[in-house]
Amino acid sequence: MLSFYPGPSKVYPQALDFIQEAFDQGIVSINHRSKRFEILLKETMEAMTASWNIPPDYTIYFVSSATEAWEIVAQSLVGSKSAHFYNGAFGKKWGQYASQINPNTQLISFGLHESLAENASQLASDVDTVCLVQSETSNGTGQQICRSDYPTNVLIAVDATSSMGGIVLPWEEADVWFASVQKCLGIPAGLGIMICSPKALQRAHSLNHRKHYNDILLMEDNRKSFQTHYTPNVLSIYLMCRLTQTLPDLHEIEQETQRKLAIWEQFWETQKHWDLQFLIPEKARRLPTVLALTGPAAEIERIQRVCLAHGIELGKGYGEWKSNTVRIANFPSHTEADIQQLINILTL
Ligand SMILES: *Cc1c(COP(=O)(O)O)cnc(C)c1O
Repeated sequence: MLSFYPGPSKVYPQALDFIQEAFDQGIVSINHRSKRFEILLKETMEAMTASWNIPPDYTIYFVSSATEAWEIVAQSLVGSKSAHFYNGAFGKKWGQYASQINPNTQLISFGLHESLAENASQLASDVDTVCLVQSETSNGTGQQICRSDYPTNVLIAVDATSSMGGIVLPWEEADVWFASVQKCLGIPAGLGIMICSPKALQRAHSLNHRKHYNDILLMEDNRKSFQTHYTPNVLSIYLMCRLTQTLPDLHEIEQETQRKLAIWEQFWETQKHWDLQFLIPEKARRLPTVLALTGPAAEIERIQRVCLAHGIELGKGYGEWKSNTVRIANFPSHTEADIQQLINILTL
C-alpha cells in the first residue's frame, strides 16, 4: 500500500534501515537520563539546525504531537489573550482548545481565498499572542507568515504541521513553530517538534508558569542538559536524527517539493479523466505539500475506489470538505516515481 494521505503518510523507506540500526545499537532501550541519550538529542538538534537553517538562538523541543503544542502555547505563553486566525478545521480546533483553557480568546475566521495579511486589522488591541496556521491540511491552503502584519509586542505561534520538513519556513517571522512527524517528515506518528525564539522564552519566563509537566520552562530546564521533560519516543528522535543527517538540506528538499507540485499542477490542469479541480484556484494560496481537489461526491468516491483497488490510498476530505474533496500529499517521502505510478492509475 502506497499512502498519499496527508498524515500519517508514506514513511521514508530508508527509515527501516535506521530502525534496524537503532535495534542493533541498543538505542531503542536507552534511558532518557543517560549520557547516550544526551549525545543523541544534541546531535539531532544540531542536524536540524544546520539542515533547516534554524537561527542559532532558536531552541528545539520534542513533544508528543502538534495537538500537544497547541496546548503548550495556550498554557505557557499566552498572557491575557490570544487571537486565532483560521480558514479551516485545524486552525478552528486550535482556537476551540485555546478558548477552553482561556475564555478570553479572539477567534477570527477568514475566507479560503483571502490572505492573513488582509485580515490582520481584525486583531483586538489587547491580544498578546497571535496564533496562525501556515499549513491548513484540511483544505490545502498555505499562508505567508509575516511578523510585520502584527504589532511588535505580540508573540506569534505557527502551526506548520503539514509543511515543516517539506518547504523552507521563515523562522524569524514567528516565535513558535511546531509540527508532528507523521506528515511532511516521513516518520511514523508519535513525536511532535516545537521550535521557539528567544522572545518566546522571555515570555515564558515573565509569566513563570510551572503548573504543567509540559510548561515550556520545564521543557527548557531539561533541554539545557540535552534531556526531555518526559520519557520521549527515542526511536523517532533517532529517525529524525539519521534522516536529517542523510537527506539533502531543506533548501534542496523544497526545490524537489516545488518540482513535484508543478507535475501535479500540470496534470490536474490538463487532464480530462476526472471531474475534479483544485479547491484553491489561486496558485499562490496553495500549500505546496498538500493538494486539495474538489468535485461532485460521486467523483470523489470513484477516485478513492479506483486508487484503493490499485493499492494507493488518498486523503479523505476533512471537516466541512469531507464529501467533496480528496487530498493528495506531496511530501518529501513521495518520489517522482510514486507520483508517476498514481498518475498512470488516474489515466488508465
Ligand atoms: C495533523 C495536524 C495537526 C494535529 O497533529 P497531531 O500529530 O495529530 O497532533 C494539527 N495541525 C495541523 C495543521 C495538522 O495537519
